[in-house]
Amino acid sequence: MNPNAFSTTGLNKALLDNLDSLGYKTMTAIQAESLPAILEGRDVIGKAKTGSGKTAAFGLGILSNIDVKHFAVQSLVLCPTRELADQVAKEVRKLARGIHNIKVLTLSGGTPFGPQKGSLEHGAHIIVGTPGRIEDHLRKGNLKLEHLRQLVLDEADRMLDSGFEASVNNIIACIPEHRQTLLFSATYSDTIENLCNQLLKEPLRVDITEHPNKLTIEQAFYAIDSLEGDDQTQRLTALKLLLLQHRPQSTLVFCNTKREV
Ligand code: ADP
Ligand code: MG
Repeated sequence: MNPNAFSTTGLNKALLDNLDSLGYKTMTAIQAESLPAILEGRDVIGKAKTGSGKTAAFGLGILSNIDVKHFAVQSLVLCPTRELADQVAKEVRKLARGIHNIKVLTLSGGTPFGPQKGSLEHGAHIIVGTPGRIEDHLRKGNLKLEHLRQLVLDEADRMLDSGFEASVNNIIACIPEHRQTLLFSATYSDTIENLCNQLLKEPLRVDITEHPNKLTIEQAFYAIDSLEGDDQTQRLTALKLLLLQHRPQSTLVFCNTKREV
């Protein structure tokens, strides 16, 4: 049996079946190390690089906790930009396909207020958005968060870089203290550490970047004879042969000079 299969986490059947249909066979490292604790209800600080599957780590945690029959905002995901909020909402909706009648609403800046207010009146279980706009809706009384049970700060580093600290604090003042808080970030600074100390209770810290041996990166070095005035061609030939042999989907080639590029 696959030790990192999603089925080892005790996720419900609807979520597991959907993961299967999405082709998510194995948990990524950040998912394997954070999801069990998230499902237990613990606070978690997760650090892992971009593209490592952080969204599903917290998304599945949220989705297995939502009471669909309770029509109130139960989870809030804060993102640094509208684009990231859209991406997260899209992924959460994809993961939620097996759950009927679950409502995920995006609230970001740069979009008119009115329709968002209307959608809020219809109710939502999960809200994904940027701190500024969510703060605005709270202030105007369009959004009520007294039933919130889970708060996620996604890409917390960028959120602070974008100057959202005050908004985040104003939002936190409006949500129940008894809640689960999850914080995910690709990088980690002293400012984030301060935020974590304020917001999270005895969090589990998962740092995937600390274990480079978990990445299976094979490194190879080829010594190319440097014939007088000819080493450029030799290296180009070697590069062509390597690409022909491995036929990678994508490749990064670093060169010394603009000319060489
Ligand atoms: P991050 O937030 O860490 O930058 P994402 O959550 O956006 O990364 O995930 C990157 C991509 O990996 C997404 O397209 C997502 O659908 C996919 N993905 C996430 N988890 C898995 C998994 N367990 N198996 C296969 N694909 C996955
Ligand atoms: Mg992300």
